[in-house]
This record gives sequence, structure tokens and C-alpha cells, in this order.
Amino acid sequence: MAQTLKNWIDGAWVESVSTQSEPVYNPATEEILAYVPLSTLEDVDLAVQTAKEAFKTWSRTPVPRRARVLFKYQQLLVEHWEELAALVTEENGKSYNEAYGEVQRGIECVEFAAGAPNLMMGKQLPDIASNLESGMYRYPVGVVGGITPFNFPMMVPCWMFPLAIACGNTFILKPSERTPLLANRLAELFKEAGLPDGVFNIVHGARDVVNGVLTHKDIRAISFVGSQPVAEYVYKTASAHGKRVQALAGAKNHSIVMPDADLDGSVKEIINAAFGSAGERCMACSVVVAVGEIGDTLVNKLVEAANQLTIGNGMNDGVFLGPVIRGPHKERTLSYIETGENEGALLIRDGRKDEAASGKGYFVGPTIFDQVTSEMKIWEDEIFAPVLSIVRVATLEEAVELANRSELGNGACLFTKSGSSARQFRETIESGMLGINLGVPAPMAFFPFSGWKNSFYGDLHANGTDGVEFYTRKKMVTARW
Ligand code: NAD
Repeated sequence: MAQTLKNWIDGAWVESVSTQSEPVYNPATEEILAYVPLSTLEDVDLAVQTAKEAFKTWSRTPVPRRARVLFKYQQLLVEHWEELAALVTEENGKSYNEAYGEVQRGIECVEFAAGAPNLMMGKQLPDIASNLESGMYRYPVGVVGGITPFNFPMMVPCWMFPLAIACGNTFILKPSERTPLLANRLAELFKEAGLPDGVFNIVHGARDVVNGVLTHKDIRAISFVGSQPVAEYVYKTASAHGKRVQALAGAKNHSIVMPDADLDGSVKEIINAAFGSAGERCMACSVVVAVGEIGDTLVNKLVEAANQLTIGNGMNDGVFLGPVIRGPHKERTLSYIETGENEGALLIRDGRKDEAASGKGYFVGPTIFDQVTSEMKIWEDEIFAPVLSIVRVATLEEAVELANRSELGNGACLFTKSGSSARQFRETIESGMLGINLGVPAPMAFFPFSGWKNSFYGDLHANGTDGVEFYTRKKMVTARW
């Protein structure tokens, strides 16, 4: 019998006061893994009061001592790597290999955060004027709230809480209600690493918890990752309530393939970027822009490669393409495939016809449309599924102009052997995460994740030194002795 999850507050499992819950499914089998409580404002307030109390001590704990907990946490995550990867596959559906890589990305965030003594350093100028010195000191901001999406249950929370906590803040995480299980293990392991109770808390649920966190007077900052409309809402609501906000949003990433590109290498990268994690990545390639005469060859190679992919339960050996997250998301994807056909795009690989798509689990096979134009909904909207659109253009300028027409600017890739094309692409594309001869310009713990346009709301991005700026505030001390 599947259990109802509890919230993690003050280092212990606490039952939500809510009587409502939602099932958490294994999307490959449709089995119910657990029920997630739809927690209430009362639950949020309990977590906030706990985190506020814990802040008093944690924020004043010497930074190297805080960092030592992060070092121990890193060790424990490495020891539990396989268990965590299996949990990601179970609740999200992505292949075990993908999940294993995701856990690595999360661990790297902890490694970066363990550098807190260095990252928290201030600056001094001993002689800003005659006999006058000036210094900048860094401090945590207080209680921070994090709201995360379903597609990276390990990596995305790890963009937030390890660094926030290393910087001396206390944290309340609201994981996706569709993939809430992994977060619970992250909390238990953090406690085992020596994190004091109350520093890291989890409140499970959906909209009510989000609204509670966005408006709570004792929360100072909000990190959000999710779809564009919710990111915009989160940004506006939380900033109207006086909080600093970073809200990372949706994507429609273009991969431009030049006539001089290594076609086989490009196809391998694009297939992984379009269909890996069932297209449910914010760095997924959802549009290929074929430049010049390579169009037909590229399209044929993409279809051939897509035909070779193994679809199934991500825990099985050799499986590349797992299910999408839920039944309604599969329905939405199928309806976009119909829309594409009605809009006049050429359906050259139909993922509805793959055997897995008609059995148990929320599977959709790799789907490819050719002759897509920027007037079509399938070009404009983030489908977030294994559906790839191909647009054909004559020049790199046209390709960049097309990609720039999108309101989203999370990432973009270029495949070429020409340094000058690469430079032109870098200088003219309006996206924040660029890949050259690779399909997924993955966010790394050490650099800011720099989505542009409506793919990001706020000023300071997640990760790297932007993350440190976001989770700290400064004091300037000017002194005359
Ligand atoms: P989502 O926006 O549906 O949910 C994200 C979070 O917001 C969840 O915790 C959810 O409970 C909450 N939420 C959902 N609707 C809400 C509402 N109306 N009011 C208040 N809270 C609400 O996103 P998702 O489907 O879980 O994740 C996929 C999306 O996330 C895609 O659009 C993807 O591109 C985006 N994403 C972006 C990045 C990035 O770095 N830019 C990374 C990963 C995912």
C-alpha cells in the first residue's frame, strides 16, 4: 500500500495538516509509488517559523564549519549515487544513464557550495581616501524558498539549497508534486551529514504551498524553476511581496546545422538533445534549423537514427527513451502532433505508431516534423516531449533571425567547422546558453545558468557566482581610525 509522504520540518517527518493528496506515479508502469500531501498555509508557516529560528544559529556558524557539512554531504551523495539515480528514474521515467548523469550534476553543486569560505569573502580597500578604509562584507539573506519542476528532481533542487545553505541561509523546498520522492532522500542524507535541524525543510504540495511561500513575510528570497507562465507569475508575486527572485522558465531551443558541419556527429548530438529524457529538458533541442543544401541528407539521417532508439522503462538496459511524465502530458503531446499535421508540417516520423505508445506507461515515440515554419504553433510553443521540428533556411543569418523570433531564449546550438560562423552565431543569437558542436549546453554548478528573454525572470541567475550574489547581501564599512 503506497504511503502518504510527510513534510520534512526541523529535521523530522511531520504529517501535513491537509486531508488532500495526489498520487505519485511511476510513469513507465503507471504504478502508484506514494501519495503527496497538498500541504496548506499552516504547514508552510510551521516550516518558515522553524527555518527562521534555525537561521539565528546557522547564519552565525563559522563558514568553514558550514562548509564541512557540505563536504560530508558530498561524500554521502557519492555513496548513494546509484540509489538516487534509480529513484530519479522511478519517479521521472528518464533512463538510468540519464538519471546517473543528473545525480552527478547535483553533486557538483554541492562541491561548488563547499567552497563557501572562498565564495563568501568580501573585499577591502585600505585607502579609499586619506586615512579612510572601506570594506565589503557578505551575509546570508535569511529564509529562502525554492520551488522546483518535475524534470530534474535531483539537479534542480541542488542548484538552490546547497549554495543557499552554505552561504548561511535556511531553506524551504517545495519539490514538484509529480516527483517528490528524491527530495526526501536529499533531506535525510543532509541530516546524516551533520546539518542542524531546521536549516533545510521540505513542504510538499502544489499551488497553495507556492502561494504561501511567495507571500510569506518571513521569506526573503525565492528561487524558482518551471514553466514560463508560472515563472512570470512567481516573479511578479514574490517581488510584489518584497522578495528577491530568480525565476528560470521554459525553453524552445534551436539547433542550427551548417552545410560544413560533421553531419554524423551533429545527428548523434541532436538525437540525444531532442529525445533524451523524452524531450523533457529545459535544454532539449526542439527545433533543428537546416542551413542550405544539407537539408535532405540531415533529415534522412535524423529519421534513421530515431528509428534505432529503444523505448521503454528507463531501468531496463539499453533503453534510451522513457515515458513522458503523466497521462495528461501524453495527451497534450498527441494533440500537438495533430496540430502540426493540421498546420501543414510534414510528419516524417510518427511516435504515436511506436508499439510502446499504445501499451502501459506514458510513452510517445520520437516524432519528427519537416517543413515547419515560424507561423506554426508547433514551432512557437514549448511541447516538452519527444517532438522535433525541422525548419529549412538558406543562410546562417536567416537561421539566427528565426531562432531570435522566439520569445524564449534559454539555449541554442550551432554545428559547424567554421570559426567565423561560430563567432557570428555567438554574437547575434539571443539566448543565454550556447552550444557549439554539441546538443545540450548543460548548466554547470560553477557558472551562472544564463537563460535570456522570457526564459528567465530576475537579475541574478542560478549557480556560480551569480548564485552566491543571490543568496547573500552585503555590508559596506567605511572607517577612519
Ligand atoms: P511547472 O511550471 O508546471 O511547475 C513548476 C513548479 O511550479 C512546481 O513545483 C509546481 O507545483 C508549481 N506550479 C505549477 N503550476 C503552478 C501555479 N499555477 N501556481 C503556482 N505554482 C505552480 O513546470 P513543470 O511542468 O514541473 O516543469 C517543466 C517546465 O520547467 C518546462 O517549461 C521547462 O522548460 C521548465 N524548466 C526550466 C528550466 C530552466 O532552467 N530554465 C529547468 C528545468 C525545467
